[in-house]
Amino acid sequence: MTDTSDHTDEFSRLRAHMVDEQIRARGVRDERLLRAMMDVPRERFVLSGRVADAYADRALPIADDQTISQPYIVAYMTAQLEPAPHCRVLEIGTGSGYQTAILSLLCEKVYTVERLASLAVEAKERLMEMGYENIAYHVGDGSAGWPEYAPYDRIMVTAGTPDVPAPLVDQLVDGGILVAPVGGEREQTIVRVTRTGDKTKEKYMLACRFVKLIGDHAWPES
Ligand code: SAM
Repeated sequence: MTDTSDHTDEFSRLRAHMVDEQIRARGVRDERLLRAMMDVPRERFVLSGRVADAYADRALPIADDQTISQPYIVAYMTAQLEPAPHCRVLEIGTGSGYQTAILSLLCEKVYTVERLASLAVEAKERLMEMGYENIAYHVGDGSAGWPEYAPYDRIMVTAGTPDVPAPLVDQLVDGGILVAPVGGEREQTIVRVTRTGDKTKEKYMLACRFVKLIGDHAWPES
């Protein structure tokens, strides 16, 4: 398969297989989330030369040396975020926009921040063309959050950071949840942070590998 236009049935079959074998089988049970993963055509978010791999059980390259995350990691992190229909969600690292699309189906509004303008523009065009409307886009350093629309009910970071950036915790509502890959440059652990008043509780969940979150409150640009 080299294009996405004439293979709708085959992609739907691959998507259903992905949801059953990679996600449900690994213990994700949230039916709203599973439906969202079934709804979003991942083949539209990968590089044109990689559509045949769109439903493979791994991350794939996108432009600018970045990646679209493995479907299971997208599902796992989204499940940990506990997205509810009333939630306003801040997403750091728009990338291809795939995770943004999943969140947009599950929440009231998604505020997504991408450091690289070319990726942000492409993702916005793609998501608008596909009819996802409840998304606000921003190009900038997401390690500083997006203070203009804070506080957020949920925050999802989709790039690896040495620590949870303090401005993100500040921009979380009381009772809010933040999910981020935290650790070294090559390997991290998915961390779930819950905020209660001025206190936070961190739970380390699952080993993972993400590209770096580069910014004032994360990794320096090399
Ligand atoms: N969630 C994306 C998807 O579904 O395609 C994948 C995100 S990719 C693993 C990580 C993204 O974070 C890259 O697009 C990268 O440019 C972006 N990024 C890195 N540092 C950032 C920062 N400080 N602020 C915003 N985005 C950043």
